[in-house]
Amino acid sequence: MTDFTPSPRELDLEARTQRFIRDVIIPYESDPRFQGPITDDLVQELRGKARVAGLLAPQVGTEWGGYGLNHRETATVLRASGYSLLGPVAMNCMAPDEGNMHMLERIATHEQKERFLKPLAAGVMRSSFFMTEPDGGSGSDPDMLKTEAVEEGDHWVINGRKWFITGAEGAGFGIVMARTGGHHATMFLVPLPDPGIVLERVMHTVDHTMPGGHGVLSLKNVRVPKEMVLGAPHEGFKYAQVRLAPARLTHCMRWWGAAQRAHHIATEYACRRQAFGKTLIDHEGVGFALARNEVDLKQTQLMIDYVAWTLDQGSRASTDSSMAKYTCGETLFQIVDRCVQVLGGRGIVDETPVSKIWREIRGFRVYDGPSEVHLYSLARRLKRKAATVTSASPT
Ligand SMILES: Cc1cc2nc3c(=O)[nH]c(=O)nc-3n(C[C@H](O)[C@H](O)[C@H](O)COP(=O)(O)OP(=O)(O)OC[C@H]3O[C@@H](n4cnc5c(N)ncnc54)[C@H](O)[C@@H]3O)c2cc1C
Repeated sequence: MTDFTPSPRELDLEARTQRFIRDVIIPYESDPRFQGPITDDLVQELRGKARVAGLLAPQVGTEWGGYGLNHRETATVLRASGYSLLGPVAMNCMAPDEGNMHMLERIATHEQKERFLKPLAAGVMRSSFFMTEPDGGSGSDPDMLKTEAVEEGDHWVINGRKWFITGAEGAGFGIVMARTGGHHATMFLVPLPDPGIVLERVMHTVDHTMPGGHGVLSLKNVRVPKEMVLGAPHEGFKYAQVRLAPARLTHCMRWWGAAQRAHHIATEYACRRQAFGKTLIDHEGVGFALARNEVDLKQTQLMIDYVAWTLDQGSRASTDSSMAKYTCGETLFQIVDRCVQVLGGRGIVDETPVSKIWREIRGFRVYDGPSEVHLYSLARRLKRKAATVTSASPT
């Protein structure tokens, strides 16, 4: 039976996270180091605060310094962390590191965990996930992967180009996805910097909270020892799914917190601002927009909790997490966009955090599968299901 009853440690961590975000992290939002792309210096300072508060990487296993939370508990804590755009960075539960930690915990060897997961979870190293490619390679369709790895003695040699690689600049290692024959791909752990990996440029972007930004990189004869294969060779696409379902959902959790913040700010403004002889919220156009936000926040929260609970039951939840990613990507963006409108001119300038949230959340409709790609795969599943029903039914 579906059960969302919060555990005592979940309630405790939620309350501590809310206090930490309100009292320690929100004051940093006006820091000059956060007026453009976030700096590593600020990241380290924030992580120092989270470490002291006992809130660094709360989602990882206890042997790596976290609390070993299940997906449902993680949902509660990560939603609270997202209330400030700086929260997930401070608490070391942001993308791509959080998804990489999840995958390393499940797939990596003991030696790989000691070398990569340990410093990552401790918040002293950053990582990247190298999948998307320019030049007509992998994007919405991962099977278009062009980067190739070939075996040479006890090494693999990788050649290709990647772009949109979040956090590549300044990362301590990358998880590189490369084709290893036919429809097979392999994931490689590559310590950075590597002489064969050149950061061509960091892309100009509308978002600024992901440390290291988004890089374009060329990989030329990158030599990777065989013991640096993550999991088994040729299983890369399968492992990408291991990473993807929970990683999509943690994005939903963090962005839910950000949308709730925007909604609180817009509601406070609408209850105080006068226009045409009454407060804004008493105009139906504004009141209904905020009421819809309430409904949408509740629905997306329930969807996140449901999929998290499903993952906790041992399901891969690929279809459910795809639905959650689609609906959270679209709905949370709409909530924030309504908040911009309710705030009038203030919604467009950086006098409140809402304009920044609007810029940051936009990408979520694209990464981890664009909305249309989720609908496309859901439609394909529908067609397969319909074909099974038709062939099973008597003529
Ligand atoms: C902020 C940000 C961070 C990112 N971080 C990383 C990272 O760390 N590592 C990494 O590897 N990649 C990363 N990416 C890349 C991201 O995963 C890709 O942008 C995404 O997979 C889409 O690929 P594409 O950009 O090549 O779009 P394309 O494949 O060119 O697709 C363009 C558009 O076509 C439409 N479309 C595509 N297929 C279909 C379909 N079947 N049906 C209907 N419409 C369709 C969609 O609207 C889609 O948005 C990041 C992207 C962003 C914006």
